[in-house]
Amino acid sequence: MSSPDWRGEGILIVGGGIAGLALACALKRCGIECEIVERASTWAPVGAGIILGVNAMAVMRDLGLAESLEAKGVVLDAMKITDAQSQPLMATNLDALRPRFGVSIALHRAALQDSLLAGAEGVPIRMGTTLESASHREGRMIARLSDGDERSFGLVVGADGLHSRTRELAFGARRPRYSGYSCWRMVIHGVELEFGAQEMWGIAKRFGLVRLGEGRVYCFAVVNAPPGEPDPAEGRIQRLRNRFAEFEGPVPELLARLQEPSELIQNDLYEITDRPWYRDGWVLVGDAAHGMLPDMGQGAAMALEDVAVLAELIGNGLPRSEVLSQWTRRRQGRVRWVQNQSRRIGRIGQWSNPLACGIRNRVAKNIPDAWTTGVLARLAGRPI
Ligand SMILES: Cc1cc2nc3c(=O)[nH]c(=O)nc-3n(C[C@H](O)[C@H](O)[C@H](O)COP(=O)(O)OP(=O)(O)OC[C@H]3O[C@@H](n4cnc5c(N)ncnc54)[C@H](O)[C@@H]3O)c2cc1C
Repeated sequence: MSSPDWRGEGILIVGGGIAGLALACALKRCGIECEIVERASTWAPVGAGIILGVNAMAVMRDLGLAESLEAKGVVLDAMKITDAQSQPLMATNLDALRPRFGVSIALHRAALQDSLLAGAEGVPIRMGTTLESASHREGRMIARLSDGDERSFGLVVGADGLHSRTRELAFGARRPRYSGYSCWRMVIHGVELEFGAQEMWGIAKRFGLVRLGEGRVYCFAVVNAPPGEPDPAEGRIQRLRNRFAEFEGPVPELLARLQEPSELIQNDLYEITDRPWYRDGWVLVGDAAHGMLPDMGQGAAMALEDVAVLAELIGNGLPRSEVLSQWTRRRQGRVRWVQNQSRRIGRIGQWSNPLACGIRNRVAKNIPDAWTTGVLARLAGRPI
């Protein structure tokens, strides 16, 4: 059952990451009360760099944040794929998409967080707090928080990332699926790249570099590995350099600039492919619902689209069950497509057979830029 005034109860957002803060910003713009609980006790500067593709920036434009993000980031002209010797294989021409869809940008995650926090200003945020439990009673969600407070909400939104506790509370344990590869991310200082973004395909490994401006380069290094392989601080930088020793172009200079093991952020890469995404007064958004592999650079974009559609439907004043079923219908196909494409690209990029990699690279060389650019144009051109 869902009372007609369910929105008046307010919305609890669990997690103040990209999805949670963007949802708070969108709901605030519709005049709908919401509150965030965030597990971290302070807003520490997070992560390395991130690319916000044209569809992510379209959402940011609607949230009134595009201008501040563009000022903090770098507009990307192209994303090129090369081999490990930095020889071109294929490219997505982002400049060509600009007149129809606007810009794609790269920026530091801390700068993205700053803009989202500014957009969500005024929304109550309880730091160092999480959701302990919630139950559905007479159309309301009664939530018990870790600070001891118990409150009633119209909807509980799990925006608490890939290893979501909200998902577990609502649907029981689901096991994220391991990709077979692990990623180190870092921001290198004192180098200015001449181009926007490059991903280099080697054998069972890839290296990416993205210009962040002000002499900073966001790098990611991906290798096939079992999950949870230890990488102690001692020798961490040298191990990474050894792993990518055969990579040429800007890689040796970039890796030579690493000084502290703490500059490297490692994540084994997982995805969440199970459904459903909602029941009663619970809904999952972003990585909590459909964490995906980062091979299309679309995880945050999908999270932002999720919250834009959810806020739009909540703002329309529909009954809650209608909001959640319509939201799932609108999001499911598109998210699945991106998730599947990301997995396919990742698998091909991580091939470990040298012969197959040689053929892969020769085939990639013959793929016209217009084709890869067209894939992104089709994604950006479809209504969300
Ligand atoms: C290596 C890598 C590179 C990527 N590059 C890109 C890219 O270039 N472009 C792109 O679009 N996407 C990229 N992504 C994906 C993107 O980072 C995610 O899709 C995005 O961060 C998802 O946002 P989210 O808010 O759903 O989750 P998160 O960003 O993970 O935020 C979750 C928030 O919830 C909080 N939290 C967790 N548990 C609890 C709890 N129990 N209670 C309360 N709070 C909690 C966390 O502290 C955090 O603040 C990349 C991902 C990886 C791993």
